[in-house]
Amino acid sequence: MSDGIPTDGPDIAVVGAGFAGLYMLHRLRGLGFEALAYEAGADVGGTWYWNRYPGARCDIESMQYSYSFDEELQQEWRWSERFAAQPEILAYARHVADRFDLRRDIRFDTRVEAAAFDEARDRWDVTLSGGARIRPRVLVMATGCLSAAREPAIPGLASFAGPTYHTGAWPEAGVDFAGLRVGVIGTGSSGIQAIPVIAGEAAHLTVFQRTPNYSIPAGNAPLDPAHEQAWKGDYAARRATARTTKSGTIYDFSPHGALSVDEAARRREYAARWSAGGANFMHAFNDLAVDEAANETAASFVRERIAEIVDDPQVADALSPRDYPIGTKRICLDTRYFETFNRPNVTLVDLRRDPIARIEPDGIRTAERLHACDALVLATGFDAMTGALLAVDLRGRDGETLRDKWSAGPRNHLGLMPAGFPNLFTITGPGSPSVLSNVIVSIEQHVDWIAECLAAMRERGAATIESDRAAEDAWVEHVGAVAAGTLYPRAASWYMGANVPGKPRVFMPYIGGVGAYRQQCDRVAAAGYEGFRFGPATLSAAPRRAAS
Ligand code: NAP
Repeated sequence: MSDGIPTDGPDIAVVGAGFAGLYMLHRLRGLGFEALAYEAGADVGGTWYWNRYPGARCDIESMQYSYSFDEELQQEWRWSERFAAQPEILAYARHVADRFDLRRDIRFDTRVEAAAFDEARDRWDVTLSGGARIRPRVLVMATGCLSAAREPAIPGLASFAGPTYHTGAWPEAGVDFAGLRVGVIGTGSSGIQAIPVIAGEAAHLTVFQRTPNYSIPAGNAPLDPAHEQAWKGDYAARRATARTTKSGTIYDFSPHGALSVDEAARRREYAARWSAGGANFMHAFNDLAVDEAANETAASFVRERIAEIVDDPQVADALSPRDYPIGTKRICLDTRYFETFNRPNVTLVDLRRDPIARIEPDGIRTAERLHACDALVLATGFDAMTGALLAVDLRGRDGETLRDKWSAGPRNHLGLMPAGFPNLFTITGPGSPSVLSNVIVSIEQHVDWIAECLAAMRERGAATIESDRAAEDAWVEHVGAVAAGTLYPRAASWYMGANVPGKPRVFMPYIGGVGAYRQQCDRVAAAGYEGFRFGPATLSAAPRRAAS
């Protein structure tokens, strides 16, 4: 395959071997399709393979952040904590790969660099790293929403004399910060998890914060065996319920609005949820995402807790978010994050007051002074949702690039397929609940839908499926309209593309909810894949060589 002459490769190529790619491979195999997955990393796990930074931990409870497709799997796997840490989630991904014998169909250390739809053959012409090419009929992008790590455009970054680490591409061997002066840039979910742990290791930690974030104590603890048993004894029913919820996660949903109860009752509710820990806090009332006044009651409760926890009132003030509604950026869960700023070896630099001028060999120079650092940690996030897709040079009919098609924001039908790109599916792509949901629930739903769609195609003898532009237009409009009915577009978040200079400001995920979304996908399938078109078999139906 290295001579540059296109060979057929598998019938279906899956890009990525994270949770989406693993399950896709398993489902396709079960349906008798010939599929291979191509993975840039050296092992399975996707985001949980790359994000090995200290403190990395899931913000959805372990009993819910796992596959539901196999009853034995969900019964046998034992989580050790209420919120699983990265090594345990990676071990789970490895277990799944081994248990279902998936590795033999995964090509590791192989990046998909380009893919062009060959209209004469109804096949994708895919270029892999190293120059090898394959020509699958179907391409499934299981590339993840938070997998294209983003380095900040700070002048002088490359001139820094010490090591620089990105939380989203952490060295496998780990990093020893003992005795070092460490600078962390970024206070999103990754920074908020890493900062308390690094503070415990480093001689000194300087945190460079541009925007303060709302964070709730995770309340992490060893998993209570009675809790585990309650879930395992009722797993199928609970999973079924989760699939009907807005975020694919069972929380203690309140049926009341925040302003429908008096202040004392409201504060009791927030206080109970704050001490129990976790994102359940955001479900204390049912209107926090849509009503500004309701939202402010939760936001001010969090600011009061920050003021209580942090000793220095000036630092507490700098750590208090004020200019966007709580929850409109992904809510953070932490373990002693605000408490960390009481440590004598931790300094907060408020970049809004004292911005970074440049990075120098010895550290970070702000308007006021040089902050000496021996090592830098970039917790600066991702080119989310579209970054990993656009990193592949994707070309559909008439040579149209996905980059051009999405120049004003992502467009596709049902979050599953961009018009003009036949046989190209995206798992948890923009336009689907994806990052607003328990992503494993969304992955399972997308994978099942795609697998059943491919089986329907096979039954019809069709060579292609593609979405109609009219259906795509209607879906994109619907995604925007639903978002506009919420407070979410008020925040300059990565959901809006606001963290990447020049990226179109469009609310990318579908906020209509996992349950409602599933119903729409099911209805489309039941109606013979309404809004999609099947194309007849062509020469490409001829028998091909075996997979390479
Ligand atoms: P993020 O939320 O995008 O946060 C990036 C941080 O870097 C922000 O504080 C940002 O400030 C700052 N930053 C970026 N460029 C900067 C610059 N040039 N100068 C100074 N500061 C800069 O990224 P993330 O923390 O990696 O999290 C991304 C998402 O991944 C989360 O929202 C979550 O969905 C997921 N995640 C989940 C978990 C979990 O399950 N617990 C853990 C980690 C990540 P501004 O806000 O001012 O732009």
